[in-house]
Amino acid sequence: MRIGAIEAGGTKFVCGIGNENGVIEDRVQFPTELPEQTLSNVISYFRDKKVDAIGIGTFGPIDLDPSSPRYGYVTTTPKPGWSDYPFLPVLKREFDVPFGWDTDVNAAAFGEATWGAAKGLDSCVYYTIGTGVGVGVFAEGKLVHGLTHPEGGHIPLRRHPDDTFEGWCPYHGDCLEGMAAGPALEKRWGVKGSELAPDHKAWELEAYYIAQALSGTILLLSPKKIILGGGVMHQFHLFPLIRQQVKDYLNGYVRAREVLEGIDDYIVPPGLGDNAGLCGALALGLQALQSAGKAQ
Ligand code: ADP
Ligand code: ZN
Repeated sequence: MRIGAIEAGGTKFVCGIGNENGVIEDRVQFPTELPEQTLSNVISYFRDKKVDAIGIGTFGPIDLDPSSPRYGYVTTTPKPGWSDYPFLPVLKREFDVPFGWDTDVNAAAFGEATWGAAKGLDSCVYYTIGTGVGVGVFAEGKLVHGLTHPEGGHIPLRRHPDDTFEGWCPYHGDCLEGMAAGPALEKRWGVKGSELAPDHKAWELEAYYIAQALSGTILLLSPKKIILGGGVMHQFHLFPLIRQQVKDYLNGYVRAREVLEGIDDYIVPPGLGDNAGLCGALALGLQALQSAGKAQ
């Protein structure tokens, strides 16, 4: 089986071919430019690859409602050219195969549930803490959509009492993304996150905000695993800080072994590493192929 996978990011696109076991056999990447140019690169890549299906995990916001006339569109992004762009319809015109279509973070959650850190579980939540903060939700064996899709990067947070940084989210100022994404670290401290020493005060604040978001997630959704990816989470010393603050906040209220005794295996990095996004797109493609088979 040959499944095409597209990880569509705000700065780069990764395209690949994989199989039903989550093994990526070929991959390419190119920068995200205007949509016509970018999709023309995507189309050239898949042209002779004879794929059975294609899965797409993309930056958004996107339209995920199959009954909407704009299903498969990127909706309101500030990215030049992409707002209201028919991403999926353009590819469907070129390739007569089943397509999977979801957000990049839902795709990553699905990839992790299929082959990664949440393999075998029927729920998990995937956070990316990078240029922005995104949250993908897999619950009761399905990816969660809704009015649009979860936008957990923008939840409001309680401020740290010593924190005077105003936050940088253009919509909300001091939401999670405004306080904890990579650019927030840079704006607050004047250097990139990768240049801050592990004992810098920045990490205590960073863990404080991420742990608040995770505590809310545990209380609201009760996921069986929480996976933290994205550039900022390459700072692995954040994990113990976050786990401890989650335990402190929950204070024994959630009586699950995973939180009380096994938190090191509960809040974890992606099992698929930097392949979480592409494998997630692959899993979406595989799922689309399976549902098309059932529908026949
Ligand atoms: P994107 O979100 O654009 O897909 P990333 O997940 O790599 O890409 O996130 C990029 C952001 O993460 C940037 O703001 C960058 O400064 C920050 N970042 C990348 N690597 C590190 C690191 N090792 N430590 C802290 N911050 C990092
Ligand atoms: Zn926001």
